[in-house]
Amino acid sequence: MVQDIHRKISAPTPLRGSKPPTMALLPPVLPPSKRPALLGLFRRGSWCPILLAGLVRASTPDLIVHDAVVVTVDPARPTATAFSVHRGRFVLVGSDAEVLKTRGPSTRVIDLHGQTVLPGFNDSHLHPRPEFPEDSIHGEVDLDPDRVPDRNRLVAVLRSKAAATPPGLWVRGFNYQDTRLDGHPTRELLDRVSTNHPILLRHSSGHVWAVNSVVLDAARITRSTPDPKGGAFGRNREGEPDGVLREPPALRLVEAAGPKVPDPSWEQLVEGYDRCFDRFLSEGITSVQDAAGTPKALRAYQELARRGRGCRVGVLMQSAYLDIVEAAGMESGFGDEWVRLGGIKIVHGNSLSGRTCWVSEPYDRVNPATGRRDDFGIPPARTQEELDALVLRVHRSGLQPAIHANGDREIAMVLDAFERALHKLPKADARFRIEHASVCPEALLRRAKDLGVVLALHSYIFEHGDKMEEYGPRRWEFMHPNRSAEDLGIVVSGNSDWPVSACKPMRRIQSLVTRASAVGRVYGGSQRIPVETAIREYTWGSAFAERMEAVKGTIAEGRVADFVVLSGDPRKSEPLRIADIRVESTYVGGKPRFERSRQ
Ligand SMILES: [Zn+2]
Repeated sequence: MVQDIHRKISAPTPLRGSKPPTMALLPPVLPPSKRPALLGLFRRGSWCPILLAGLVRASTPDLIVHDAVVVTVDPARPTATAFSVHRGRFVLVGSDAEVLKTRGPSTRVIDLHGQTVLPGFNDSHLHPRPEFPEDSIHGEVDLDPDRVPDRNRLVAVLRSKAAATPPGLWVRGFNYQDTRLDGHPTRELLDRVSTNHPILLRHSSGHVWAVNSVVLDAARITRSTPDPKGGAFGRNREGEPDGVLREPPALRLVEAAGPKVPDPSWEQLVEGYDRCFDRFLSEGITSVQDAAGTPKALRAYQELARRGRGCRVGVLMQSAYLDIVEAAGMESGFGDEWVRLGGIKIVHGNSLSGRTCWVSEPYDRVNPATGRRDDFGIPPARTQEELDALVLRVHRSGLQPAIHANGDREIAMVLDAFERALHKLPKADARFRIEHASVCPEALLRRAKDLGVVLALHSYIFEHGDKMEEYGPRRWEFMHPNRSAEDLGIVVSGNSDWPVSACKPMRRIQSLVTRASAVGRVYGGSQRIPVETAIREYTWGSAFAERMEAVKGTIAEGRVADFVVLSGDPRKSEPLRIADIRVESTYVGGKPRFERSRQ
């Protein structure tokens, strides 16, 4: 079933609207002499990658890679040993003999001596952000457990950041994990760092924060302050706010009371994104989908593309900017093969790893407010009617909705909204997306399948398996349900939700294959998937989610030449060692954008 769908959809089909990429960023695919003929084809709407491949083949390739183990993810030719590239696209994929005989005088030839090549990874949901030096005013302290394993270290690294920060300005940190620090940092702990600086730390989930007393006092949050709709303040046994903030409505109340930091300059911003994309490229990622896009980020991505930097980007614009996108007349697919509008990101629900998502059976934990096990998480602030109206509007505007939902009650609301929108305005192959769909029993998966929904499931049990303890073992077997979704023929896209989990596709694939946490505990073993399936999700599946499977995601003739060279073959690896496989080089459009040997 899954194979059938894969074959049907991955066969080369015309690009949406059958029009060529339009923005000037894209290098011409053909020699100038061929262009008029090609333009005629565009007009007649018969353009397709296979045809292009045939025309491009007339000239000799720019690059040939051979003596490789090429995992193509193309069901028509699953493996090969060689391929050629011309003007940024794969031209011929096959045996060494077939490909090498097409070499010309200016062809660069790379002998990989048996190394493994995969299509470039496509991280279908992450959060690119400009990376600033940690000691600059825009810099944040990385609190990843590998670096900050306990509370003493946490206090120490934050104290040194405070020492370098003028009093009154923010001390910010990100990526702390409560499960590795004996709980969330409280105001008392953070007051030990500084009582002269506002301190704001972001949990690895991106849905929970910890602040010190300076922040709570400035925002006048006291025991008599009620929880905002859609959010909650952590409280101690006496009901006093303990400095923990759950979900953005709680954050917004305190953040507005803090000092304003001047925005970075445009050049600082672009350079910050450049550092971030270098990180992605070094992990073999050639395409990303920004799951919280902004107009400013969209501009920065265009600037990077102009400079020949970074990788391909699909932008899921935050729903807060829907007015702007509609006013500009932009539909999903606007842009080119480098920077492109994917759709509209709607957050409807809360966090899995922050344990705030809204579920139908209570969490396995005592509710501090009642002393009982009756905590169902935080319901979304939006009503069903409001969600229905928003989804219909997005759909009517020619935009693909991509909706964040984790808890089963949140997912059910999203499916209801999808069903109603598609009933009012039917669309074949709509590919509405649910981002995460973490607690997803089979009945909901079947509904998703019937609606043609694509699922961007988490793959982060390696880092966040321990957060699943509060959901209880019975639920683990239908959380992050890759196996059940694949068995039903639902397309799943690979992603890290970085910085929620590491933007390391090899680690993500290991996590999908083993369902084992960093300490080796398995959560929901029935949802394990074969390594080949995990690779497909992280390449073709992610391309499908952004309607780009005819352009990228496989090593096949006519596709853009995005590929990664690995130090080992994940299909042959011990499952718990997949994450140890190194990325040796990353090619985007046939050009190396990361080479380990040059680092
Ligand atoms: Zn996200």
